[in-house]
Amino acid sequence: MSISGKKRGVAWEPSNSSSRVSLEGTTVSAQAERDLLVGILETLSQSRQMNEYLERLIEQVRNYLGCRCVGIRLLDDDGNIPYASYTGFSQEFYESESPLSIKSDKCMCINVIRQNTDPTLPFYTKGGSFLSSSTTKLLASVSEETKGQTRNVCNEHGYESVALVPMRHKDKILGLIHLADKGENKIPLERVQFLERVGTYIGEVLHTFMAEEELKRSRDYLKKLTDSMGDAVFSVKMPKRVIEWANDSIKLTGYKPEECIGKTTKLFYPDEREFLTFGDKLKSAIAEGKDVLHTEQLLKRKNGEVFPSEITATFFKEKGKVVRVTSIVRDVTERKRAEEKIQSLAKFPSENPNPVLRIAKDGTVLYANKASLPLLDVWRCQVGQLLPDYWRKLILDALGSRSSKNAEVECGDCTLSLTFAPVVDAEYVNLYGLDITEHKKLDQLKDEFISFVSHELRSPLTVITGAVNTVMTEGERLSPEETRQLLKDASLEADLLSHLLSNLVELSRAQADRLFLHAEVIRVRKVVQGTIEEVKRQSSARQFIVDVPRKLPPVHADELRLERILYNLIENAVKYSPEGGEIRVSVKPEGEHLVFGVSDQGIGISLSDQAKLFGPFQRIEESRLDDAGGLGLGLLVCRRLVEAHGGRIWVESEPGKGSTFFFTLPLSRS
Ligand code: ADP
Repeated sequence: MSISGKKRGVAWEPSNSSSRVSLEGTTVSAQAERDLLVGILETLSQSRQMNEYLERLIEQVRNYLGCRCVGIRLLDDDGNIPYASYTGFSQEFYESESPLSIKSDKCMCINVIRQNTDPTLPFYTKGGSFLSSSTTKLLASVSEETKGQTRNVCNEHGYESVALVPMRHKDKILGLIHLADKGENKIPLERVQFLERVGTYIGEVLHTFMAEEELKRSRDYLKKLTDSMGDAVFSVKMPKRVIEWANDSIKLTGYKPEECIGKTTKLFYPDEREFLTFGDKLKSAIAEGKDVLHTEQLLKRKNGEVFPSEITATFFKEKGKVVRVTSIVRDVTERKRAEEKIQSLAKFPSENPNPVLRIAKDGTVLYANKASLPLLDVWRCQVGQLLPDYWRKLILDALGSRSSKNAEVECGDCTLSLTFAPVVDAEYVNLYGLDITEHKKLDQLKDEFISFVSHELRSPLTVITGAVNTVMTEGERLSPEETRQLLKDASLEADLLSHLLSNLVELSRAQADRLFLHAEVIRVRKVVQGTIEEVKRQSSARQFIVDVPRKLPPVHADELRLERILYNLIENAVKYSPEGGEIRVSVKPEGEHLVFGVSDQGIGISLSDQAKLFGPFQRIEESRLDDAGGLGLGLLVCRRLVEAHGGRIWVESEPGKGSTFFFTLPLSRS
């Protein structure tokens, strides 16, 4: 800070018209006063901070007066006047005085600060200072009444010469220069008077320092406030839009505050054109006399990414001209995304493949998306018209009970499930339709399945119990041959039952994701032959051909599961082919797999049926008519087991000529 005394308007003149006067034996020179003033001015130009200034100031004052102790005390917000800087005072004195409350009745400082100094009393100057050249003598000379005021702490600590000189800014006293010395007559009146005048000047300087500190405090406060905002805040100088200041959150642009300051805001715009366009927006808002401009703007981050923002620019004028603009920039990327999502959701009903309608309380169709048209056809109404009576009643029910109501409606070949969802506090319901045709079919199949299962389980059981009962009750009457035949029948049916149950168990495991394999290297040919033997026990009236090379690359598989797959396929081949027909089971390596094939010369399967063969509960109508028996689960079990091994299954067939079911198992990795 370098402010000349002249500019500050300090009226300096020597304290006396003559350059030399004599006061209590001390020679006072105008030169000393001049030295003090020049020193104070130099101090000011060299000091950047108040503390530094005050420290130098007390040195200047001490040099000028020659007294031991000098302190500068400043009035704080709480009304105390602690030492801002001091020299010479003893630690004990300093501690008794600092922080000093002006409430203390012992302190002469209060009177000086409050400007309660009576110039008719001998220890007050006309300029409002307290001055004592010998406190002991002073206390002895003044009346008891006046003593109260002079009984100060300085005297208690043996300071004989004491002065308290106010430092003023306009009418306000900002603080005191506190002078003290243990010797008598150490502080001449004339110098105190000179200090009083200099005190006005110092007060003005202090005021500037204080104002600057206050400004800095407010700036720090503002910075803290804006840093915590999350929005970028920066201030630009007009008209060039040069950034003067930016908060921490300017980082949302990818720049640090120090990287932006001194540059134009062009930094933040995707291109020159956008920068200029925004400039035009500012100009027209200013021309319209607005104080604030609130707008949306695409900005660019340091990494080149362009993002949507919301800007609030506030204009600051000087002499009617906008000189500064402070902008608050909010990154609205997330909000825009959310808005887009909401918009796409709002579009959703029209794009929804299922019927979505809104129906008023009285049954008027308010809105219907495209997928609702077939439904409206069934109801013979359109948007703006009333629904048939039955449905209107349902809507009233839903609104009255404030709960959703469900209903089903046949719509062409489809079955639709309708949910009437009341919108609480609104006088309408939203109606959502769902095509449940497939679901219904599956339900029906499940019902059939249950009756099939009971039938399929009952027939072998009947044979078993019948045979066992006959042997038990009429055993003596039966020939050994007859008994063996009966028991053989029971055993075969028990096998059938066991296979059936095995399929059911495998399926439920697969369904519950609990199909765990016990894979090991298996001897494929042996497994194939074993399974054929098992099937042959049931029916030997087919010619079985095993086409499996003796040497095959090794495969890891669950032997029992492979048996199940083969059993199901071979059993089907038997079931769906004529007696005497040939059933061939082949295995050959192909690429990374072993390919298994089970072919028959049976009824074959049409292409359309082939497509659904491996789904649940699929039995082809013709085979049902033949009453070949079966639950329609065997192939599904095969598919689940093959897939669990990492293979696939498919069929090649021609109606009337026979079928070949293929499946693969991956070869073991060496
Ligand atoms: P099912 O217990 O009915 O045999 P599957 O799941 O094993 O159940 O077979 C489903 C349907 O596939 C059978 O009902 C039958 O119509 C048809 N199918 C299976 N294998 C053959 C085959 N080898 N020849 C002709 N049709 C077959």
